[in-house]
Parts: sequence; C-alpha cells; structure tokens
Amino acid sequence: MDFTFTEQQQAFRDAVASFARKELADGALARAHTPEFPREVARKMAGAGLLGITIAEADGGSGGTLMDAVLAIGEVARFCPRSADVIAEGNFGAIRVLAHFGTDDQKRRYLAPLLKGEELIVVAMTEPDAGSATTDLVTSATPDGQGFRINGSKVFPNPHADQYMVYVRYGPGVDGIGSVLLRRSAKGFSIGKPAKFMSGAHWAPIFFDNVYVPPEDVLLPAGGFKKQIAGFNAERVGNAARSLAYGQYCFDAARDYAKDRKQFGRALCEFQGLQWKFADMKVKLDAARLLIYRAATNADRGFPAADETTIAKLMCNQVGFDVANEALQVMGGLGYTEETLVEYCLRRSRGWMIAGGSIEMMKNRLAEIIFERRFSQRAPKNKSEVESRKSKEK
Ligand SMILES: Cc1cc2nc3c(=O)[nH]c(=O)nc-3n(C[C@H](O)[C@H](O)[C@H](O)COP(=O)(O)OP(=O)(O)OC[C@H]3O[C@@H](n4cnc5c(N)ncnc54)[C@H](O)[C@@H]3O)c2cc1C
Repeated sequence: MDFTFTEQQQAFRDAVASFARKELADGALARAHTPEFPREVARKMAGAGLLGITIAEADGGSGGTLMDAVLAIGEVARFCPRSADVIAEGNFGAIRVLAHFGTDDQKRRYLAPLLKGEELIVVAMTEPDAGSATTDLVTSATPDGQGFRINGSKVFPNPHADQYMVYVRYGPGVDGIGSVLLRRSAKGFSIGKPAKFMSGAHWAPIFFDNVYVPPEDVLLPAGGFKKQIAGFNAERVGNAARSLAYGQYCFDAARDYAKDRKQFGRALCEFQGLQWKFADMKVKLDAARLLIYRAATNADRGFPAADETTIAKLMCNQVGFDVANEALQVMGGLGYTEETLVEYCLRRSRGWMIAGGSIEMMKNRLAEIIFERRFSQRAPKNKSEVESRKSKEK
C-alpha cells in the first residue's frame, strides 16, 4: 500500500492547479452566484483536456483514471468552487454512462459535443413520486414502430442542459427500467419554469408528451437499471469529491483568516478554542480524502465499487458540510456574507447530502452490504409477506 502520488499524478495535479489559477480564479465569486451552468469554463476546460479525463482516447477522451478526475476536482475547486461542477459533469455523471454503454453512433452524436464543451448532459431520473424510491418511476417508453414514445415528467434536473439521459419504464418491475437519450429540441419535450435550489443553481420540472425516441437513441433497453446504477456510482464519486473539495476550500480560507485576524490583541489562531476546531477539521478532511481516494483508485478505469463509493460518499458529504460550517463560524460575520465563497460552499455542500442518493439511503445501502442481504424499504403488501420478513429477521 502506497499513500503517495505517482510522479504522473503529481504532474497532472500541478498542471490542473496552474490552469485553474490562470483561467478560473478571476470571476470565481461571480460564477458561484450565477444560476446557469458556466459554459465558458466548459469550453476552456475542453481546450485543456479536462473534459473526458476518464474516457478512452478512442472515444475522444484522455484515457486517464477516475483518480485523475478526483484530483482535478480538488485543484479546480481551490481556485473556483463553481467550476468544479464542470469537471464533475464532464467526467463523472451521465457522460461516463454514455461513454461506457453508448454505441459508436451515440458517441459520435451525443458524446463528441460534450467533450468539446459545446453541450451539457444531465440525468433525468427523479420524479414527483419517485425520489429515493427510484424504481417507482412511471415515465413510460411505449413501443412505436422501431422506436418508443416517452410520456411522463421528471423533477430537479438542470433546465439549461442540451441533452438528457432519461430513466424510463419499458415494462413492469425493476427489470422494466432502462434509459434513453434526447435533446431539448425533441418534439413534445418541454421545460417548466426554472426555480432555484438553496445553492442558487436552477432546476425545473421537465415534461415528455409523446416524445418519439428512435431506436438508435435508446441507451439501455429494459433490464438496464443495474448497469445504470453501476455507472451512477461514478456520479456519486464526483458528488463526494466536490463535498470534500468544498470543505477543503473553506478550511483553507478559515486558516488564512485565523492567521491574520486579530481580536483581544492576538491572532485568532492563538485561541485554543479555535485551534481545536482546526484540529478536528483536519482529521475529518484527511479521513474523508483517504476514503474517496480508495474508491477512485480501486476503480481505476472502470466504475467504482458500491461499498467503497457508499462509504466515501457518506463520509465526504458529512465532512464537507461540517467543515464548511465550522470554517464559517471561525470567520465570524464575514463568513456569513457573500464577500467570500465560504457561505456558498456551505449551502452547496448541503445539497449533496440529498442528491445522488441521500445520506439515509446510503446508510440503508451500507447496512445491506454489512449484513449481505436485502432490506426492503417497502411496506409489506400482505400478511404472508409480514410473516416471511419476520422469519428472515430472526
Ligand atoms: C442539489 C440537487 C441536485 C439534484 N439533481 C438532480 C438531477 O440532476 N437529476 C435528477 O433526476 N434528480 C436530481 N436531484 C434529485 C435527487 O436525486 C432527489 O432529491 C433524491 O433522490 C431524494 O429524493 P426526494 O427529494 O424525492 O426525497 P424523498 O425520497 O421524498 O426523501 C425525503 C427524506 O426521507 C428520507 N428517506 C426516504 N426514504 C427513506 C428510507 N427508506 N429510509 C430512510 N430515510 C428515507 C430521505 O433520505 C430524505 O431525507 C437533485 C437533488 C438535489 C438536492
């Protein structure tokens, strides 16, 4: 076991830091308060080879590892927290699933513009009545000739995306779920009024009114749900990596502040009450970092394992939020203003405790891994199911 970076990783990290310092540090505050996706950043990152880090060179990516992409999130967030989203969308989320399961034709039509920073893809999974219970989704894909007609609605996706990876139901049960690709220009597709998350970013409901999806735009047919979720573990690593990176950003800001700010004639860092906060924050950040590095390193060029991803997401989400919160406290009134990005990081990291599998659902998943059995979250349908569950619990 080796806890040091390779020369290659170190060089990559330095290169990303120097890109972020030069290209992203200016305007970081304004970017965080803009609800739209920072497209100019995506174009710059495409030019620097930071979109598709983990995607094979044959598919237009850089052929790097998931760990490289995690390192990139950390370095970018040090200079511009909001721009870390571009690394996440360009490496971890729907783009990874598309690159893994897409046909050559889909990669040409959908993946290529993403890698150039010209378009944005997001997952449309959550529905008004299917949040944590994802498999309750009802958005239907009904055969029409060779293709499908999509009907239903989704909530919470970014309304400014160009492409949507839509989870659909081709038939009953978990095995009836798969996904399709579509563009916002598709006939019958519409976007509701944008609203704001606590982070300030936009979301909106989206609607499918008999949208025709040709066979060549089916990403995963019925039976694809497990594959989709395996790919979603990469998204979870991106989510967790941003939590950690935001915690680190706030820690650094608070440490610098505590060195300079004087009260009672002494620097804040000389008060033991604050020193202990920093000691606790440092331990948490290091522990979370080791867990996310483990998940990313073991994934190498594949998808990360469910257990390591779940543990890393739980830890990073909690630590990112806790550290941002403590750092804000150290910075007093200034921390609570929009003059620094600490309050933004706090608001933003709160969302990752819900998105991509909430803290509670991650703990449910971990319990299943620990006990090596499934625990249905659903109410039993009848008396015999109650009895059968009781006997399993004995
Ligand atoms: C910032 C942000 C970005 C998002 N982006 C997207 C996106 O791009 N695309 C998309 O499709 N969706 C997106 N979502 C939606 C997200 O996936 C859902 O919010 C999430 O899955 C939870 O669903 P819900 O909001 O319906 O909460 P619910 O499922 O209604 O849960 C409410 C609360 O109950 C808890 N709970 C539910 N079931 C259980 C259980 N069995 N045991 C214990 N606790 C339970 C939950 O953890 C939660 O705390 C985003 C959400 C956020 C906050």
